[in-house]
Amino acid sequence: MAEHLASIFGTEKDRVNCPFYFKIGACRHGDRCSRLHNRPTISPTLVLVNMYQRPDMITPGVDAQGQPIDPRKMQEHFEDFYEDIFEELSKFGEIENLNVCDNLADHMIGNVYVQFREEDQAAAAHTALQGRFYSGRPIVVDFSPVTDFREATCRQYEENSCNRGGYCNFMHVKQIGRRKHGGSPPLRRARSPVRENSEERRAKIEQWNREREEKQG
Ligand SMILES: [Zn+2]
Ligand SMILES: [Zn+2]
Repeated sequence: MAEHLASIFGTEKDRVNCPFYFKIGACRHGDRCSRLHNRPTISPTLVLVNMYQRPDMITPGVDAQGQPIDPRKMQEHFEDFYEDIFEELSKFGEIENLNVCDNLADHMIGNVYVQFREEDQAAAAHTALQGRFYSGRPIVVDFSPVTDFREATCRQYEENSCNRGGYCNFMHVKQIGRRKHGGSPPLRRARSPVRENSEERRAKIEQWNREREEKQG
């Protein structure tokens, strides 16, 4: 019996625990879900809820004034954000995974998932980030049950074939550093003086991404 329960835990057959919350760390029903959302009290993974504010928040592809936004600008905006949070979060420990959702539904839009190597590191980040602000908005941080991002991620999205679009229930992970090697120069742009270390930071992120790709085979 116990074995049976273990094998169905967090799956569709599990009538008690919500499979979406268990696997993806987010469920569209939120607190009104008929199944349990088992919030971990400790985990190597944190979710920073709705943290990334895309420039086309109101209507996809269009800015607040109704003007279309160049997709490259959007990517730059995102990569700036990614660099910022990567740097900030690495202060607490070694990052195993840092994923930002491209989903559009309220419970997933802009969610940042960071998985540290150790639970202690996540706990330190959790304590430090509470009550802090990013871009003028309070940071909402929680421990997340997600530890296997392969299970949580939409594979069709990675293959550009997800027909559920932004309302898919699986994570659509925003990609960074997809630039081809050689040929085009690395993304550079005018930066304020505080960003002088950006090149270094970007190299760090790219190295870290490569390591992650190697690890995931
Ligand atoms: Zn649920
Ligand atoms: Zn999808």
